Amino acid sequence: MNKINFYSGPSILPPSVLEQAKVAIEDFAGMGLSILEISHRAKPFVDVMDGARAMVKELMGLGDDYEVLYLQGGASSQFHMVPYNLLNGTETAGYIDTGTWAHGALTEARLFGEVHVIASSKDSNYDHIPKNWDMSGKPYKYIHLTTNNTIYGTQWDIASLQRLRGQADMLVADMSSDIFSREIDYSMFDLIYAGAQKNAGVAGATIVVVRKSILGTVKWTLPKMIDYRVHIENGSMKNTPSVFAVYCSYLVLHWIKEQGLKNLYLQNERKAQRLYEAIDDSRIFKGNVAKEDRSMMNVCFTAHDSALEPKFSELAKAKGLVGIEGHRSVGGFRASIYNAMPESGVEALIAAMKEFENSLS
Ligand SMILES: *Cc1c(COP(=O)(O)O)cnc(C)c1O
Repeated sequence: MNKINFYSGPSILPPSVLEQAKVAIEDFAGMGLSILEISHRAKPFVDVMDGARAMVKELMGLGDDYEVLYLQGGASSQFHMVPYNLLNGTETAGYIDTGTWAHGALTEARLFGEVHVIASSKDSNYDHIPKNWDMSGKPYKYIHLTTNNTIYGTQWDIASLQRLRGQADMLVADMSSDIFSREIDYSMFDLIYAGAQKNAGVAGATIVVVRKSILGTVKWTLPKMIDYRVHIENGSMKNTPSVFAVYCSYLVLHWIKEQGLKNLYLQNERKAQRLYEAIDDSRIFKGNVAKEDRSMMNVCFTAHDSALEPKFSELAKAKGLVGIEGHRSVGGFRASIYNAMPESGVEALIAAMKEFENSLS
């Protein structure tokens, strides 16, 4: 493959993971069968499922008070599963509205209880992370936030997360687009969820990490497939899991461990810093969110003169830079530079931006 993949999700994978996945499609774990045609109860796959769940905990540094689940339905299904499991009709949850996904989550929660939007950046098209929160509706059963806003390119900094933790009884995070991108105290969260297809695997697997003690307090009977406790009891095998997607996530987690979360964090910081510097130095391009809230994962930018944007798109395409178009609700460009994006990929984008700028002068 000679293209450089900046898609926001599904997104770039480490080449070694693709190689191993290819082998497993031919012959999985020496079984003489493809991973696509084996029973999920076959021992080699049960080992993969258990291994992946254990590895999530290990990478997050979490203890036995947490359980890890591999579910289906994407991060979007967690928008209703979270309140269904946690929020009794008369209780109130606090939600922070920092983007389309955050908004989707709070809209679903309203089906299950009271929702108080304790902060929102909607009025400025989600160009920053609000740092002041309206806690007047306390007690909140939990507070929900989206750690990285994939579409807009904003991300919570760790100090703000810690400050919020200090004011919350229970903290729930959608970490779909920055899970395993940085060293962070994962135990400040009571529940974390993420679609695997951005930084932790491929589409079809959803990771849920939950502190067991928060479950079992709602008054209604939960449908089995909605009840986290049922999935815990069954080791994420209540029904057929997405076997191949779980295997790919398992491979990515092992790759993350080999690289080291700290090294990936440092590399992610370097990549983002280089790219934002190039944007800030440019006469053509500009960033569109508050500098202190800039995402390390999704770097959004536009051209001062929007008529130039299709021309840069053309140049990028010719250079094999794929997937840099911004989300349709924002426009401009978005370079997603997840863990698997090498520094050389970011340098290639910067070189294309410089070449474009020089071609105009
Ligand atoms: C991609 C994304 C989602 C949606 O994930 P699906 O798995 O497609 O449901 C939700 N939240 C965030 C932050 C995302 O980046």
